[in-house]
Amino acid sequence: MNSLNPVHKVATQLLDVIKAHEPRLSPAARLDRARELLRLVGISADRLDSYPHQLSGGMRQRVMIGMALALEPQIVIMDEPTTALDVVMQRQILGQLVELRERLGFAVLFITHDLSLLVEFSDRIAIMYGGRIVEEAPAATLYRDSLHPYSEGLLRSFPALRGPRRELSGIPGSPPDLRAMPTGCAFHPRCPKAFDPCADRLPVLGPPPDRAGPARTVACWLHPAPAG
Ligand code: SF4
Repeated sequence: MNSLNPVHKVATQLLDVIKAHEPRLSPAARLDRARELLRLVGISADRLDSYPHQLSGGMRQRVMIGMALALEPQIVIMDEPTTALDVVMQRQILGQLVELRERLGFAVLFITHDLSLLVEFSDRIAIMYGGRIVEEAPAATLYRDSLHPYSEGLLRSFPALRGPRRELSGIPGSPPDLRAMPTGCAFHPRCPKAFDPCADRLPVLGPPPDRAGPARTVACWLHPAPAG
């Protein structure tokens, strides 16, 4: 949302991207493409003439999504895409993004702390702790039956989206210092289920032997991956 240059109009910034990557397009064709991109993300083409401060936060976000789609990407990486937006606007933007994804066929990689958003909008979720993936599974599976204690803690940090109420407890302690990582499983100083091997041996990411069904992996001594 704050990536737009505040002293240039939307047109200048969109046309700049198109010109840099599609230098053979004529100026008229570039303008047509910029109009089309705005319409694609639900913004009237006459907003090309606006400065960023004349747009709402949600509109600025949409302009950035339009700009990202200018080059017809196969994948869009979104790092905390809706952090500064209110919940209603978050839902609108992500709903529109999902619709564009279906229509244009690109993939989206979300990077976020908002697990409730991921559960709703993602196909698969990878949970990272201390710079490593510690669990990876289809979103619905992870929500229903998370295996790693850190994933469980994250899920207990926001209210249940549906079904019975659940106690909110959060995760005690602080994230590890990446310059001095704990030995063994990096989560062991905070893990309520830590036991013998956890402080000394790093668990490997692999399929949990005690769960059949959809492809999933976890790095935890409670569900040790088969050797080999
Ligand atoms: S390996 Fe041990 S410390 Fe790490 S998450 Fe699993 S139970 Fe907890």
